[in-house]
Amino acid sequence: MSCKRKHIAIIGAGASGLFLAKKLSESPDMDVTVFEKNRQVGAKLRASGGGKANIFNRDIRPDHYNKPEFVAELLQHYSPEQLENQFSEWGLVTITDEEGRVYPASQFSQTVVDVLTHYLNENVQLVTNYDVQHLDYKNRKWKINDSPTLFDVLVLASGSPAGMIPKNQRGYNHYLQDLALKINHLESSLSGFILKDYPKSLSGCRTKAVVSLYQNKKLIHKESGEITFKDDGISGIVIMNLSAYYRRLLSTKNCRLEINLTYWDENFDTDTYLRDNHNTTGLLHPKLAALYQQKPFDIHRLTFQIEDTYPLEGAQVCHGGIDLPEIEGNFAAKRFKNLYILGEMLDVDGVCGGYNLFFAFASAAITATSITK
Ligand SMILES: Cc1cc2nc3c(=O)[nH]c(=O)nc-3n(C[C@H](O)[C@H](O)[C@H](O)COP(=O)(O)OP(=O)(O)OC[C@H]3O[C@@H](n4cnc5c(N)ncnc54)[C@H](O)[C@@H]3O)c2cc1C
Repeated sequence: MSCKRKHIAIIGAGASGLFLAKKLSESPDMDVTVFEKNRQVGAKLRASGGGKANIFNRDIRPDHYNKPEFVAELLQHYSPEQLENQFSEWGLVTITDEEGRVYPASQFSQTVVDVLTHYLNENVQLVTNYDVQHLDYKNRKWKINDSPTLFDVLVLASGSPAGMIPKNQRGYNHYLQDLALKINHLESSLSGFILKDYPKSLSGCRTKAVVSLYQNKKLIHKESGEITFKDDGISGIVIMNLSAYYRRLLSTKNCRLEINLTYWDENFDTDTYLRDNHNTTGLLHPKLAALYQQKPFDIHRLTFQIEDTYPLEGAQVCHGGIDLPEIEGNFAAKRFKNLYILGEMLDVDGVCGGYNLFFAFASAAITATSITK
């Protein structure tokens, strides 16, 4: 008796699409086709973590994300330990730093892409240079562009335009129009801030600091780490994390950064220091010391009003995307049968530290279980 094979289409060979394809490669009764518009697969995964790919974090907590309830539910079904075991089963050796960030031991993101794409079984086909423009759903089958194959299951894993030059952002995920899903406005997250009345003389200054994000009198979030002053604003991991909290605000009016430059001791006695030394030369980065010389400021509270985040091109992830009420907890669409939506296409974003790749991989793992059930 012949067993009917299931045809699965995955749009996008990025972190979530490749992880799902690898997992489905273990199910010989399925034919899986991954459509990728680029010539090479896994471009963003390769760019991740400055080319090292911080693939997840051992300490994944719901409040690291803009949608904590959804992530809390997800963690009931898929944990960082399960992801670690899965990668280990596939032969990826990982290392963990003191902040729980997990990287491939090779310290090279290409290793992760190779683990996901090498030794796939014959039931998986990667089709590159294939831009999905249109979808059609008829008689419980999915048609992609003018492809003659009709698919039983369709998985959307085509990510977001974050980090792309404006030319490549145009028309990104255009094919979603055919589904009329609710999409929340896309904005930069994990990006630098453009600051008002910003002294350009600070450009190129890199220092450590404790940075607090305030809206009016309310402290929104505070973090310590390295910051970099740019031509028109400020960047660095601390700042990118603050941008994620900034994006969660209903309105971003009247937000400011307060920078405490005495990071080694937040209450360092600057008054005594200045009385003894008369200037900040031995205390601050030379560019900050020069600024202080010109116009003295509170060293515990160098304050800048926020104009905006950098545009999408300078962001690591998108805030916004497909609205979560469009999907079930197993990533299946509510309004279409046999449709799944993964990773960064959804309105879920996390802070820096491996949280976004964790979400992409976990969404793929849960979907694989659902498809193969
Ligand atoms: C510079 C940078 C550094 C980052 N570093 C980290 C990090 O260290 N740790 C971390 O957790 N997160 C990091 N991120 C975020 C992380 O890379 C993403 O959240 C993650 O890759 C999203 O996975 P995804 O599968 O949803 O989408 P993607 O990995 O972006 O994959 C989507 C794929 O779909 C393809 N595609 C798009 N449209 C179509 C179409 N119409 N037809 C066919 N194919 C299509 C794309 O070409 C792409 O290959 C970083 C992001 C950037 C930009």
